[in-house]
Amino acid sequence: TEETLVLVKPDGVARGLTGAILARIEAKGYALVDIKLVEPDRDVLEQHYAEHAGKPFYEPLVEFMMSGPSVAIRLAGNRVIEGFRSLAGTTDPTTAAPGTIRGDFGRDWGLKVQQNLVHGSDSPESAARELAIWF
Ligand code: ATP
Repeated sequence: TEETLVLVKPDGVARGLTGAILARIEAKGYALVDIKLVEPDRDVLEQHYAEHAGKPFYEPLVEFMMSGPSVAIRLAGNRVIEGFRSLAGTTDPTTAAPGTIRGDFGRDWGLKVQQNLVHGSDSPESAARELAIWF
């Protein structure tokens, strides 16, 4: 089995979509190992998004992630890293496939950062690193 970090980002929590997102995760059969509501400080976000430092969307992204609480989830299952990213859909919510979380619930709000509802780790190395930051 494998673990990943999933975040329901501030737009997902603010829009009341946490339950709908968790329902899809649970229906898929993944196991909730740990879950918490969290208001990350800048230090946590700078660690989490270190690979994006210097990019044009970096500062708006950090500000967005401090705009309200997120739900952090330690999620387990066979191939859960790949599987959750499939459930989430591609980064841009306008073109994410229907049937995915971003495709069904997200759209482009014309802001400096894509408010795309969720985050999921993209590799075993990222998952280990990110789980240590958030839990
Ligand atoms: P994916 O890996 O599926 O693309 P992700 O959430 O892991 O999704 P990253 O590339 O790690 O995406 O980017 C982190 C976050 O930064 C995105 O989820 C999104 O909120 C924002 N973001 C990424 N690229 C852009 C962009 N070009 N313009 C605006 N916001 C962006």
